[in-house]
Amino acid sequence: MQVEFYKHNLGDTEIKAVADVMRSVMLTTGAVTAEFERKFAEYLGVHSALGVMSATHAIELALRALGIQPGDEVIVPAFTMWATAEAVIHAGGKPVFVDSEPETGNINIDLIEKSITARTKAIIPVHLYGQLCDMQRLRELCDRHRLWLVEDSAHNIEGERDGLKAGALSDAACFSFYATKNITCGEGGAVVTNQPQLAELMTVMRTHGMSADAANRYASDKFRHYDIAVLGIKANMSNILAAMLINQVEKLDERWAIRERICQKYEAAFQQHPRIGLLIPKSKSGRHIFAILVEPSLRDEYVNLLRERGVGCVVNWYPMTLFTYVRKTFGTKPGDFPVAEKLGFSTISLPLYPSLTDEEVDYVIKTVLDTIR
Ligand SMILES: *Cc1c(COP(=O)(O)O)cnc(C)c1O
Repeated sequence: MQVEFYKHNLGDTEIKAVADVMRSVMLTTGAVTAEFERKFAEYLGVHSALGVMSATHAIELALRALGIQPGDEVIVPAFTMWATAEAVIHAGGKPVFVDSEPETGNINIDLIEKSITARTKAIIPVHLYGQLCDMQRLRELCDRHRLWLVEDSAHNIEGERDGLKAGALSDAACFSFYATKNITCGEGGAVVTNQPQLAELMTVMRTHGMSADAANRYASDKFRHYDIAVLGIKANMSNILAAMLINQVEKLDERWAIRERICQKYEAAFQQHPRIGLLIPKSKSGRHIFAILVEPSLRDEYVNLLRERGVGCVVNWYPMTLFTYVRKTFGTKPGDFPVAEKLGFSTISLPLYPSLTDEEVDYVIKTVLDTIR
């Protein structure tokens, strides 16, 4: 048997939606993007959502719109995809890494305060694998220190904590529709906010800072010039990509429920295993990645064996503070972030998507149990 690590759910509905856009005049950001944005904002219960080209763009856009300046420090978890910190650098800021809490792998809120300096302007919590961070505590911390709170919610759309979804307490929350995320258009992202003025500013800034985008200019009878009043970036989502996402937003809860069932099966199978560790969610998880934690010295061997035996698996992620660029630029070294490093050297991500069959899930479980003894 060969179980793919990931399979998308794009089908005839999405193909027709994209074809409809291709037969229309407006390929770039327009009515279809706006429809996706309405539906996505409605699902999360936030004031507005903006389609962009990636979560990395979403984070950069939010930070720029919030006024991050060169030299400003932004706190990020040491255990995340490099994109979180990269976006901070592109926005002009300096990422400051904070170690993880062992139970969830999320940023350790107890350790944040001692990393706050006079230059700190924002915190970017990452909802690891779909488990939301304690946003109430983070909001309180940010209010106390007058910091912006921007969520990297690339792993989570459906999750809740204290009855709240992503976007509820932060200044902005950022989502990814990259090829292997829970909903996807190949490459894409969104940023949501409950602040109308910030939404307006980000709308302008996502398209070069132009006061009116192409669809708006096309819709007006009289020719008009646009102004550039602020420095923007180029990250607006096209109608083509948005067309793929609308149906997937409508299916979010249905497909989440299937992933939840698969995760519960995995958890039941691995929970008692002496050599497999799990990060059990503390509240409704977005269920993006199902990870097992294994002996670090054997991890890469296990990954290769699982792949040889037909179980697609990947590593999310090698500890980013040990990448060459990060060491050279920020002087990080082994041992600086012990919990994040241990996670990064132990974690293996298993297949998790709604079209996994019962036979495939059973095969993954059996192969993992046969491989890790
Ligand atoms: C995938 C991912 C990103 C980057 O998303 P893109 O849409 O590819 O830019 C950022 N942060 C985390 C935690 C991710 O998993």
